[in-house]
Amino acid sequence: MSAPLAEAMKAPRNGWRVSEPPPPHGVSLPQSATIRRVVANNPGPMTGNGTNSWLVEHDDGCVVIDPGSTDPAHLDALVAAAGGRRITHVILTHTHHDHLDGARPLAARLGVPVCGFHASAEPEFTPDIGLHDGDAIAGLRVLYTPGHASDHICLETADGVILTGDHVMGWSTTMIPPAPYGSVRQFLASMQRLRERHARLLLPAHGPAITRVDDCIDGLVAHRRAREDSILALMPAVPRTLDEIVDSIYHNLRPGLRRAARLNLHAHLEKLAEDEKVVAQGECWMTAAP
Ligand SMILES: [Zn+2]
Repeated sequence: MSAPLAEAMKAPRNGWRVSEPPPPHGVSLPQSATIRRVVANNPGPMTGNGTNSWLVEHDDGCVVIDPGSTDPAHLDALVAAAGGRRITHVILTHTHHDHLDGARPLAARLGVPVCGFHASAEPEFTPDIGLHDGDAIAGLRVLYTPGHASDHICLETADGVILTGDHVMGWSTTMIPPAPYGSVRQFLASMQRLRERHARLLLPAHGPAITRVDDCIDGLVAHRRAREDSILALMPAVPRTLDEIVDSIYHNLRPGLRRAARLNLHAHLEKLAEDEKVVAQGECWMTAAP
């Protein structure tokens, strides 16, 4: 059993969580008449059971969202999952490597463009088609949703399905790095924006489909607010380094998650500093004077 799953089963207060048995890798998994998923064989603490690469049909073929892995078997499975339909675009929700890596190899093989937010956060990557908030591409609407990454977008179908990348996931909270890569403030604004779309289904880049859309979004926002409160409550009155604060706030942290926890904490402290609730002193942080 994966650690997040074990956690979900003993933590009913996290009602937003959804889990699934590990799905097979490299297999076309139908989600609806027009949407299929192929899970990449890259499981891990940050990717869960692996990256979901989504195929979404449109009038002239289909798109592949987040090819994820350079593994030829995964790329073969994506082409096979198109079922003879022409793949017209590769689209990235953001440029983290577990989403980006298969994009160039797959696009080169198919002779199609790679599309992503116009201001890429990855210096080594520039999209062939730079997307802006509100653009329409292959029957999908682009929603700019920074927070987890500065170049993160969600993609909305005409019938109320949103492909959420790493912005909303049901198996785990998303990692939010500090500026310039991420922002807790932007993440919360992006969550509000997503909620106002009144989607009927969310399809994340890791983990199962999310049907209880509002519960999931509200739960994730509440989790962030609670995390912020607990950070504030445990903030030292004298300056402490990030590592010292990580040790006092996060307990029983698996080594593979420590780096992510430290980045998350740093991002939260940036927001709390903007809110004038904590202050930074060189490399150290402390609670703001009352
Ligand atoms: Zn990511």
